[in-house]
Amino acid sequence: MVLLEISMMIDIIDKVEIGKFQKLLNNVNRIVITCHKTADGDAIGSSLALCLLLRNMGKNATVIIPDQLPWSLNFIAQGKDYVTFSHQEIMAKNIVRNTQLLISLDYNDFNRVGAMKTCLEEAQVPKVLIDHHLNPVSQQWDVKFSHPEMSSTCELIYRIIEQCGWNSFVDKDIASCIFVGIMTDTGNLAFSSSYPEVYEVMARLMERGIDKPYLYKMAMDTVPLNSLKLQSYAILNKMTVIDDKFALIVLDKDDLDKFDYKPGDTERLVNRPLSVSGIYWSTFMREDAKYIKVSMRSEGDLAVDGLCAKYYNGGGHMHAAAGEHYGTLQEAIEIYYKIVEEIKKTKFNN
Ligand code: 5GP
Ligand code: MN
Repeated sequence: MVLLEISMMIDIIDKVEIGKFQKLLNNVNRIVITCHKTADGDAIGSSLALCLLLRNMGKNATVIIPDQLPWSLNFIAQGKDYVTFSHQEIMAKNIVRNTQLLISLDYNDFNRVGAMKTCLEEAQVPKVLIDHHLNPVSQQWDVKFSHPEMSSTCELIYRIIEQCGWNSFVDKDIASCIFVGIMTDTGNLAFSSSYPEVYEVMARLMERGIDKPYLYKMAMDTVPLNSLKLQSYAILNKMTVIDDKFALIVLDKDDLDKFDYKPGDTERLVNRPLSVSGIYWSTFMREDAKYIKVSMRSEGDLAVDGLCAKYYNGGGHMHAAAGEHYGTLQEAIEIYYKIVEEIKKTKFNN
């Protein structure tokens, strides 16, 4: 009990950055919040939560997301307004042109916002970073909250709210968005969350009256039938397991067409092979329209963020990362087998 009270009192966010952030906010009204492309629960959850909070504080805040949300997140975005850059480019650019402050959530490199990159980079306004990914690109942000040790950007948002003393502006809707972000980025508190404070944040959110069973069902356990079939097909027919340790799942355009693929349909597929004892590295490749999307998950001491950065123009976290290959599926697979050889050599010395 005493421990709980003590840990809630620790202000882990840098006080100087908090001071700079509060000062910036005091001086502006129009604020734009952005997250990374192909938004996940943490990206959209943190963006909507911060937007609603700033509006409760009387600010004119707008969320701009780079591209269409996966269907799986519609439940959290329903009834909330946001702008989608890929569909509403002129409007989005106008809003950025007129904003007084830009806040970047759940990414730390403008390469992560797709076609929105130039527009954000060129904006001559103060920029704030709130993120938990490794290796932030330096010098692009005036205020930086970069905490790779934290479960999620949503947890970070909640801690900033607490430390700024903005708790009274948090309502059930905001708490639900933050809860969903933590839940999805940690696989319902399974990983990246082995410290007591994250449970304290969840407890504070529960106090706002959120509907936990509903949020869990919608965020973690609802898929359309075609997605269930596509994922089952992928595991049965398109998965290769190497040395009982590494798994590779590849879906080409024909596979996706056959199951009427929509963004979100392959969510969490890459995690599935890790449930087999012995498999500690899982890779999923999907032939998208403009590139090959490569996702990786790992367990133990194999870091996949470095692999995605080095070979697939990406990055992420130690055990969950992704990137893109601009070329053919065959090339992406060949690169993969080179990595396999490299890992075998360094890890097993054979
Ligand atoms: P997913 O496989 O779920 O798309 O992504 C896994 C993790 O890697 C997420 O935290 C995501 O934000 C991050 N990630 C995905 N794509 C990229 C990328 O291109 N660059 C970087 N730096 N991180 C990525
Ligand atoms: Mn995140």
